[in-house]
Formats: sequence, C-alpha cells, structure tokens
Amino acid sequence: MRIARFTTGSEPQYAIVDGEAGNEELVVLTGDPMYTPGSVTGERIKLTDDVRLLAPVIPRSKIVCLGRNYAEHAKELGNEVDDLPLLFLKPNTAVVGPDDPIVLPHYAEDVQLEAELAIVISRVCKDVSPENAEQYIYGYTCANDVTARDVQRQEKQWFRAKGFDTSLPLGPWIETELAHDDVRVYGRINGETVQEGHSADMITDVATVVSLVSEVTTLLPGDVILTGTPAGVTTLNHGDVVEVEVEDLGVLRNPVIRRG
Ligand code: ZN
Repeated sequence: MRIARFTTGSEPQYAIVDGEAGNEELVVLTGDPMYTPGSVTGERIKLTDDVRLLAPVIPRSKIVCLGRNYAEHAKELGNEVDDLPLLFLKPNTAVVGPDDPIVLPHYAEDVQLEAELAIVISRVCKDVSPENAEQYIYGYTCANDVTARDVQRQEKQWFRAKGFDTSLPLGPWIETELAHDDVRVYGRINGETVQEGHSADMITDVATVVSLVSEVTTLLPGDVILTGTPAGVTTLNHGDVVEVEVEDLGVLRNPVIRRG
C-alpha cells in the first residue's frame, strides 16, 4: 500500500495512492494512518497539478543516516569499509517534499546527490534484534541525502555538509510493502542516470540497520533511517532536476537552485 501526504491548498491530508504510474488517484483518509486507524472519507482525487504531494513524513525526532554502506561508493570517495556502518544525523528541518527546490548553500561549491532507500519507523523501538526489526518498520520511501562534498571533506562533523535546510528530499509516498532487499536504487540528473545500485549490495541490510540504530537510540514513530548511497555521486548545479527512484516504490523529483 502506498501512503501519500498532500495538500490542495489547505491543511495537509493523507491518502492511499491507487492506480498505475501516471494515472494515480488519491483515496483520501481521515487522519494520519501511522497514528490512527485511518478510514477512507469517500473522496477520490486525481493526482494532477492541482494536488501537491508533500514529504510523506516529517520525522518527529530524528533522521539517522548510514555512511559507506555500499562498497563501491566508499571506494569512490577513498574510504575503507568498516565492519560497522558509520552513523550520523540530519535534522528534521532538512526535510522537503517532491518538487520542492533543493537550495544549494552559499558556503559550498560542490553539492552532490545521494540516492537512498529510506526506512520509516512505525513504533517505539529500542534494542531490537534483526529478527524482530521488521515489526517496527512502517514502510519505505525515496530519499536524497544531499551533501556539500567540499565541506564534508574539510570538517570532521558533517552538520554543515549534510544538515542544511532542503538537504533531505523525501517522497513521493511511503510504500508499506516493499521487497527491500531486492530493489534497484537510481539517481538521475536531468534524466541521465548517474547512480545505479541494488539494495542486495548493501553491506548492512535493512533489518540489521534498524537493530544497530536501536542499540544507540530509541527510535520513535515517524523517525527515518537512510540506508546509504551507491556509487556515482555527482555534482548538482543551479537549474538541474534531480531524481531518486527506488524500484517498485516511485520517483522523487526536485529542482536545484542557487540563490544569487
Ligand atoms: Zn548518504
């Protein structure tokens, strides 16, 4: 099931996404189905220009990200792969939705895309085993872990490199049933594929990622975990359109701007 958050001009609402790509309809729900047993209102809306999809979740407390979870990407940046994945945080103020602009920060020259599969947590989760981790996953969405690469290379902490406003597009919706260990992940700039990976090539798989993060911190409903990016990270420029696609999930598309 695909769950979208959207607006037609007033308060955000939630809907089940029905229909094939390019012909989707929103089956409007009464509340946020992550927190309430949402029932359908009876209203159906065509997914057209009058409807704006929003980030499908605004993480209540945190976004935990994995670095170096695909060997080829670690290698392209000259990094060794460790047994334990590198973990870092992005603030929830970094989140934007589909079609929202990524605003390149004025202090960075080389800002790159990172196409990633994102996990959305459904309930309070602490010290779970990989075997039980799936019970705490609400679903999956596409994420772009936008990174100021030049700043990241200069600084040990990555807050300026990865925590700036608009550095985390999420969407277009949450897919609650995804064969998460068997999907391709693509990154495209202006229609050209620059990243292509497969979730089976992750060094740490989805269930183990949730378990490892839950050893460190209590995960709350709506928290998001990014699972790392495949090789092919590429510089974004003003005027570009960047896409993240996760197979069987959807395409997240954002324009890139630099404010002069
Ligand atoms: Zn990343």
